[in-house]
Amino acid sequence: MTAYERLVERHEEIAVLSSCNALSSWDQETGLPPKAVPYRAAQRAYLSERIHALKTAPEVGGWLREATKELTDSESEAAANVRWWEHSYERATKIPSDLVGELEKTGSMALKAWEEARAGCDFATFKPYLQKLIDLNCRMAELWGYEDSPYDALLEEYERGARTTTLTQLFAGLRPSLVALADEAIRRQELRPPRSLQGSYPLDKQRAFNREVCESLGFDFEAGRIDTTTHPFCSRLAPFDTRLTTRYDETLFTSSFFGVMHEAGHGLYEQGLPQDKHALPSGASVSLGIHESQSRLWENHVGRGAAFWRHWLPRAAHYFPHLAEWTPEEMTAAVNRAERSFIRVEADELTYDLHIILRFDLERRLIERRLTVDEIPETWNAACLDLLGLEVRNDAEGCLQDIHWSMGAFGYFPTYTLGNLNAAQLFQQALTDAETVRQLEDGDYSRLLSWLQKAVHEHGCRHLPDELMRRATGRPTEPAPYLDHLRSRYLG
Ligand code: ZN
Repeated sequence: MTAYERLVERHEEIAVLSSCNALSSWDQETGLPPKAVPYRAAQRAYLSERIHALKTAPEVGGWLREATKELTDSESEAAANVRWWEHSYERATKIPSDLVGELEKTGSMALKAWEEARAGCDFATFKPYLQKLIDLNCRMAELWGYEDSPYDALLEEYERGARTTTLTQLFAGLRPSLVALADEAIRRQELRPPRSLQGSYPLDKQRAFNREVCESLGFDFEAGRIDTTTHPFCSRLAPFDTRLTTRYDETLFTSSFFGVMHEAGHGLYEQGLPQDKHALPSGASVSLGIHESQSRLWENHVGRGAAFWRHWLPRAAHYFPHLAEWTPEEMTAAVNRAERSFIRVEADELTYDLHIILRFDLERRLIERRLTVDEIPETWNAACLDLLGLEVRNDAEGCLQDIHWSMGAFGYFPTYTLGNLNAAQLFQQALTDAETVRQLEDGDYSRLLSWLQKAVHEHGCRHLPDELMRRATGRPTEPAPYLDHLRSRYLG
C-alpha cells in the first residue's frame, strides 16, 4: 500500500465513526427520550475521542510526509486531499489533549450557565464562564499561530483563508450602505405597509406544500428527509442521507416554509458533493461561508423573489385557500417585510448583517484583548443603538441572545455575512444565463442547480473559498452584488 492509500483507508474508518456520531446527534435533536440523554452523551464522547485519536495518531504524520513525496502532480485531486489533511493534522496536533478536555468541560458548564443567565437576563452569571472560554480560545490561537491577529487563528477553523484585516475592511465598507438602505427601505415601507400573512395554516398542509416546493428545487427525498425541531438545521449523516429539520407555526406558514428553503439549500449542497468521496476532503463541504451561500441563495434570492411567487402563489392557495385573493406582488412584499429587531435569528435580509457586524467587532476585540468581558453589555447596547437604532432593555435581547460564545465558538459569526455576499455573487453570475432566468419563471430550477453543482458542489474542498468564488464568478468575495441585490429588492 502507498502512504496515500493508507491515508484514504484511515479516513474511511474515521468517516464511518463520524457518521455514527452524526446519526446519534441528529437522533438526540429529533426524538431522544429525556432519560436516555446521559448515556447518549457517553456514546458521543467515546466516538469523538476515538475519531480524534485516529486523526492525530503519529503514524498519520509519517504517512503525510511520505505521501507528499510520492505525489508528483501538485494539481491532482490526491495532492489537494493531502494538503487539506496536512493542515487539519497540524492544527489538531498543536492542541494538547488536556486543553481539549478543559475546553469540552468548560463548554458544557458554560452552556448551562448561559441558559440560566439568558432566562434570568443576568449577564453576571455567565461572565466567569465566558471569561474562561475566551482565555482558552486565546491559548489555542497562540498554539495554532497567526501573522496579524489571534482572531485569524480562530477564523481558520470555520473559513480557511479568511483574515481579520480583510473582513474588517469588507464590513467597514458594507456598514454605511446597509444602515442607509435600511433607513430608506423602512421609510418607504411605512408609506405602503405590506399585507399581513397571519391566518390559519394547518400543519399537514404546510408539510405538503414544503415538500412539493423542496422536491421541485431538486432535493432528493430518496436520499434525505424533513423532520421537526425547535432550531432548524441540516446534517448529512452519511452518503445519500441528508436530513433537514424545520419548525411550525400554525398562524404563519412562512416560518416553516423559509426554514425548509434555507435548510434545503444546505441539503442540496450536501447532496451535490461527490457521495463516493464522502470520506475525503474532495467530497466534503469547504467552509461555513460557502455552505451559508447555498442556503441563502435558495431561501432569499430564489424563495423571496418575485418570479418565485408568480409561479408558486396558486399552489400556496391550493393548500391555504385564503391566499387565493392575494396577488404575487402582495405576497413578494409580505415575505420581504423589513424591520429593525433585537434578535439576530429573527432579523430580515436587510438588517441581518448589521447584527453580524456588531458581533464581529466585539469578538475580534475580545480575542485581541482590546475589550474586557465586563465591558460587553455596555458595548453591545451602544452598538445596537448605533447600528439599528434600538435601545436594548435587557441582556436576553442583547449580548446573551446567541448560543455561539457559550459553545466557545469565536470566529463563526462573520461566516453568515460571507454567506450572504457569496450567495448574491453566485446568483448574479447564474442569472447571466438567459435560459436560467426563463426557467425560474416556470418554477424550474434544474439549470440553476446544475450550474451550482458544477461551480461549487462538485469541487468539495479542492479550492479554498476565495479561489472557489474566483473560479465560479471571476472575482473573490466582494460586497457589490449583495448591495445591488438589496437595493433592487427593497428600493426597486
Ligand atoms: Zn444556514
